[in-house]
Amino acid sequence: MPWCKARAAGKIDGVLLGLHGACVAVGEDDADGALAQAVREIVGPNVPIVVTLDPHSNVSDRLAAAANAITAYRTHPHVDHFETASRAAGILKRAMDGEIKPQVHLARSWQMRGFDSTRTTPPDGPARRGQALARAMEAADPGVIEVSLQSGFVLADVWHVGPSVAVTGNGADPRFAALGAQLVRFCWEERNNDTVKMHTVAEALAAARAVPPGPGPVVVSDFGDAPGGGGYGDATAVLRAMLENPVPGAVFASIADPVAAEAARAAGVGADVALSLGGHVAPAHGGGPIEAVFRVLALSDGRFTHEGPYTPGQMGQFGPSALLERHGIQVIVTTWQRNILDLQQLRIFGINPTAPPLIAIKCMDAFRAAFAPIARAAIACESGGVSSRVHTSLTWTKVRRPVWPLDPDAVVEAAAGRV
Ligand SMILES: [Zn+2]
Repeated sequence: MPWCKARAAGKIDGVLLGLHGACVAVGEDDADGALAQAVREIVGPNVPIVVTLDPHSNVSDRLAAAANAITAYRTHPHVDHFETASRAAGILKRAMDGEIKPQVHLARSWQMRGFDSTRTTPPDGPARRGQALARAMEAADPGVIEVSLQSGFVLADVWHVGPSVAVTGNGADPRFAALGAQLVRFCWEERNNDTVKMHTVAEALAAARAVPPGPGPVVVSDFGDAPGGGGYGDATAVLRAMLENPVPGAVFASIADPVAAEAARAAGVGADVALSLGGHVAPAHGGGPIEAVFRVLALSDGRFTHEGPYTPGQMGQFGPSALLERHGIQVIVTTWQRNILDLQQLRIFGINPTAPPLIAIKCMDAFRAAFAPIARAAIACESGGVSSRVHTSLTWTKVRRPVWPLDPDAVVEAAAGRV
């Protein structure tokens, strides 16, 4: 554990923590804050701690108090891991050299989501404009070391869920908090500006069929069962709809079902195998099992290496896996659930990602970095899985209230003191 290592390290001159920022553990709603606080207690008040975050983090007051500086990725899909680490190391070096005394000023909006989920793919979306405002604030005032935007991880039922702005200033000054408040206001005003249009499963598949023919696949992404957002990865609604009205040559990636994957491996390549595929974890959220016979086309140990642009070089694993086929649709069945965001995840099964007319995947936005350059079109849908954006259909017990979008806008504004 990091704090055990910190305790054993002896004299420490500076700490750089690479955290996600939205970790919830059993018995601890703010695992990142708890970790940073534990490190702070070991190193004492005078050793600088710089924290990198994923912008889909729910930044707690405890984390902001424990850190001297916070900087999150500025892109989504996240393709600036290296730049973020370099930026953090630069701040840490300056602090260790005594050049600056960084201090975090945290501002949190009364929203569960915002900044268009920090999507930087739309050239004029709220995330890019928010980042531009942040860069302008840094450029205008040498005392502003870093302005970090977080859109939050909306599916965590914790008090501190939602968008935040961390302004790291050189020392403490009310002007730093004012900059955070300014960006929180921007976040509130842009709350309905969502650059990804959501469809039902039927709408998405109909829209995919209506895309004019041409090179590259139409990519249909399922927000509702995205493993990167907490989805179980075994929801069947999209695959069921595809099987009922097949597009020959289409690919479905993927269903996490260890029993089915093992059955396919036991049957072997070329065999027909009767399966109860997927839908076992939460059938009410995204559909129950598909009872059908599939042909085994290929087997894989499920290991892949990201080719990028999202985390190039990083190893990944599906676990023992199989490529199945039914009604002309190729279906990847894996042992573990994974976001589909890299073309290598298809290639290890012998699939050329540019060839299928339609590829359905389980992912929210991260796939766009690799798939947008090859896709004829990208269409998002909701299968009803647990990573749904329809937050009002879930039960919330710990989120601070009032909060948007659970409560009326006017109530939230009044409580936030903005009117
Ligand atoms: Zn993220």
